[in-house]
Amino acid sequence: MRAYFHGIVCFVSLIVCSTNALLGQELLWKAAAAKAVITPEVKLWMAGYAARKGPAEGKLQDLFAKTLILEDAQGVRFVWVTMDLIGVPKSLRLEVERRAEEEFDLPPSHLLMNASHTHCGPMIRTYQPAGENRPEMIAYSSIPAEQHEQRIKETREYRQFLADQMLALIGRAIKDLRPARLLQSQAKCGFAMNRRLPRGSSFINSPNPSGPVDHSVPVLQVLGADDQKLAVLFSYACHNTTLGVMQFNGDYAGYAQQYLEEDHPGMIALFALGCGGDQNPYPRRLIPYVERHGRALATAVEAALIADPQAVVGSIRAKLDYATLDYGRLPTKEELLRKSQSSDKYDSRHAEFLLEDLKHVGKLPTSYPCPVQVVSLGDDLTMIAIGGEVVIDYAVRLKREVERKNLWVLGYSNDVFAYTPSRRVVLEGGYEGATSMRFPRENLHPAPWAPTIEQRIIGKVFELLKNQ
Ligand SMILES: [Zn+2]
Repeated sequence: MRAYFHGIVCFVSLIVCSTNALLGQELLWKAAAAKAVITPEVKLWMAGYAARKGPAEGKLQDLFAKTLILEDAQGVRFVWVTMDLIGVPKSLRLEVERRAEEEFDLPPSHLLMNASHTHCGPMIRTYQPAGENRPEMIAYSSIPAEQHEQRIKETREYRQFLADQMLALIGRAIKDLRPARLLQSQAKCGFAMNRRLPRGSSFINSPNPSGPVDHSVPVLQVLGADDQKLAVLFSYACHNTTLGVMQFNGDYAGYAQQYLEEDHPGMIALFALGCGGDQNPYPRRLIPYVERHGRALATAVEAALIADPQAVVGSIRAKLDYATLDYGRLPTKEELLRKSQSSDKYDSRHAEFLLEDLKHVGKLPTSYPCPVQVVSLGDDLTMIAIGGEVVIDYAVRLKREVERKNLWVLGYSNDVFAYTPSRRVVLEGGYEGATSMRFPRENLHPAPWAPTIEQRIIGKVFELLKNQ
């Protein structure tokens, strides 16, 4: 009886195994990837650190925009666009989204744009004050005022170049779509560390080995005929802030992609940043470290490639919506007038800009729309992509609460408008929870987020996952 039962189990598992193997080997998808160099030809100012006092002085490596396109058996497409840049400005997202829909019939929900947040890329945003007919501004205080007009012009031109390149990439990849199969697996990589260290009643930016992290490195392999590696999409949750040099480079993510492409000729490696808002690579600041971190991450991807990869089959389902993020208590005009006299230059400038907004618009905004996107590849892989500089708590919580196989949680997607702290980080304060909100991006935030931010985003994720 036992032998008979054992025989049935073996027989059943044989069917399951062979079905899985069969599904894994069939080229059920179409896929293509493409890349373009986006290293600026003119010496643009660099983004990320206010301390820089001049434009870029050459490059350590090129910067890239890349795309991966999948098409399922029903002809539904999903497009990833990744970039070695500080962020995804909303204006860039809106232009690429609009033109991709017009030119390629691609719905906005089926386009995911993610930035690596390298702090050694060009400045790509200008600040657009609220209200009608107000001129764009340069919000980097280290750029001399007499240069602002020129800097605005070249930043606009570069952003236009980026949009054109991205559309061209998508067009090129669509023409190149070919039969493919997908494999998902993961490994771990350990150089990311929490960077919010408690000090007195607040937090400083310093390694905190006891703080939360997520060291997983999810990897999606795209294989063509004869198992040729067409592309690999991988993620890690850590700021690209190893370096603050004056030469363009993609930081650890740029090096990881470069090493993978060198080691697999013909393959395109795409990096998508996870919830690394409060994570830094350590150690930092020296070029040998960025190479080591890049190599460590590339090695983790190599490990994932052979670590029990599972076939991804099924159809593409994608949704995109916006979670309304409320600001906390808004400052009154009297408070702003007082703050505009502050000896802290970031406080005073923030207050002055808000007073100007009040003069032109009459009131301050009360909320900001945060993009939240969900894409499922059959039942085998689900990717959640959230806007802003998302802190690690979102990855930890969603991986705990969302009952899906192979869940990826990306930050820095579709609009990098501010930090996206969790409730805990808002209540704790510090840079990611409060003080970073003083810095203008494409728009200006009047106050830190309300603690409801986390529930708004998590609620939107579950709403989108319903019936998907
Ligand atoms: Zn950042």
